[in-house]
Amino acid sequence: MDRFQHYIDGEFHTASAHFASLDPATGQPWAEMPDASAADVNRAVEAAHRAFLGRAWSGLTASARGKLLMRLADLVQAAAPRLAALETRDTGKIIRETSAQIAYVAEYYRYYAGLADKIEGAHLPIDKPDMEVWLRREPVGVVAAIVPWNSQLFLSAVKVGPALAAGCTVVLKASEDGPAPLLEFAKLVHEAGFPPGVVNVLTGGPEAGKALTTHPKVAHIAFTGGPETARHIVRASAENLSKTSLELGGKSPFIVFDDADLDSAANAQVAGIFAATGQSCVAGSRHLVQRTVKDAMLARLKAKAEAVTIGAPDQMTTEVGPLCTRRQRDRIQALVDASIAAGARLVTGGKTPEGPGFYYPPTILDCTDAPHAPAVQQECFGPVLSVVAFDTEEQALEMANDTAYGLASGVFTRSLTRAHRMIRGIRAGIVWVNTYRAVSPIAPFGGHGLSGHGREGGMAAALDYTTVKTVWLRTSDDPIPDPFVMR
Ligand code: NAD
Repeated sequence: MDRFQHYIDGEFHTASAHFASLDPATGQPWAEMPDASAADVNRAVEAAHRAFLGRAWSGLTASARGKLLMRLADLVQAAAPRLAALETRDTGKIIRETSAQIAYVAEYYRYYAGLADKIEGAHLPIDKPDMEVWLRREPVGVVAAIVPWNSQLFLSAVKVGPALAAGCTVVLKASEDGPAPLLEFAKLVHEAGFPPGVVNVLTGGPEAGKALTTHPKVAHIAFTGGPETARHIVRASAENLSKTSLELGGKSPFIVFDDADLDSAANAQVAGIFAATGQSCVAGSRHLVQRTVKDAMLARLKAKAEAVTIGAPDQMTTEVGPLCTRRQRDRIQALVDASIAAGARLVTGGKTPEGPGFYYPPTILDCTDAPHAPAVQQECFGPVLSVVAFDTEEQALEMANDTAYGLASGVFTRSLTRAHRMIRGIRAGIVWVNTYRAVSPIAPFGGHGLSGHGREGGMAAALDYTTVKTVWLRTSDDPIPDPFVMR
């Protein structure tokens, strides 16, 4: 079996404990992953802290930091096929998706490489004579980056890229599920020539996560995962009053009006829910459709869901692969069963197939008569689409906002005025109009409510890893008068 290592303080370490990683396509162990102890985490944070203060990193100009990031981007691009194969093997995400996504991950590093020397301070027109006052944008310090199993290279790029551009150092904790691609990514960090300790990569479960988030030398916790873990993280952050940015789940509405191009909407909806086997935070998992076109949309969606090629994730012809873990598949089955018990009508799928691997078929539930079924309210994080009909635009908006989440949303309509009203009314961090799931390093990404806070992508993310230092400089050569001598 392959055995992976941690990357701490510029060196690859064999951990004292390991755990088996299962191939989701077969359910069989294929590799041994290092399991970080509290001592490993401490070593990594101490190394990151030393690196943050050390001249090898803090003495670099922002442009030099940018050049290192650019080198990393090129290495990620060159290694994309290898990284994609590893991610597919370890998480079950299909090779078509991992290949395309990892090639694009390089663009995120490129974007932040270019941005490193554009993080500017400011000069203030201060209201006092003989005084210069300006603001310096300085890095916050050690960033703890914690990611879930889906899209680990992508979810870490949106943290590591801006954090390094800002001048921070990073301890990156891969998920205990499918960590192989990130542990492999550490080799590229090493090859790019970052000073030791600037980026450290380890993996482990909640215990490693706790050790990292409570460490007194962590200044910012950048987390992607579920809301329940986020609550633990926010409590942990109270220990050191560290900053947090939280990218959490969603229950994103995908709204189709009767004037929309239904074929286009159906294609976008199928991609929006079944891509990544539904393990996507922005999955358009609530299909809200105007009643007059509900049957027409359902017929299209059912036909497409049933035509999907399910198979081995490493085959280019596969369109839907297995889920990452057995636990996740069983959770999805329970949620579908509970929704049917609550009155949802099964349109297609809905049953765990026989055989090896953690497969689950594309599933559609008509929840029009059960709008409070679990599949409408809770994040499934799997290939399950709930469909609910509405009559009016007001109803559509009310239903769209009837969620504790607020990450993404999609609106399909040909009416420009209605599109604008929906954009204004929807409470979510992202609104896609007549498209879905488009992302870019240039565009901020994030949500509110149970979907978290903070933004990844764009300049906003880099600024989030900085703090402002206010500098006062007196320009007069006259001595400061003795304050206790009356004049
Ligand atoms: P999770 O919250 O269980 O785990 C995420 C990470 O947190 C893992 O690395 C895990 O080891 C770590 N962790 C667990 N307990 C911890 C603790 N007490 N302290 C510190 N770290 C701890 O999430 P998951 O189930 O692996 O991932 C699925 C969730 O991630 C979904 O809710 C999904 O929507 C969300 N997600 C959000 C985005 C986004 O950008 N908004 C992107 C992808 C996934």
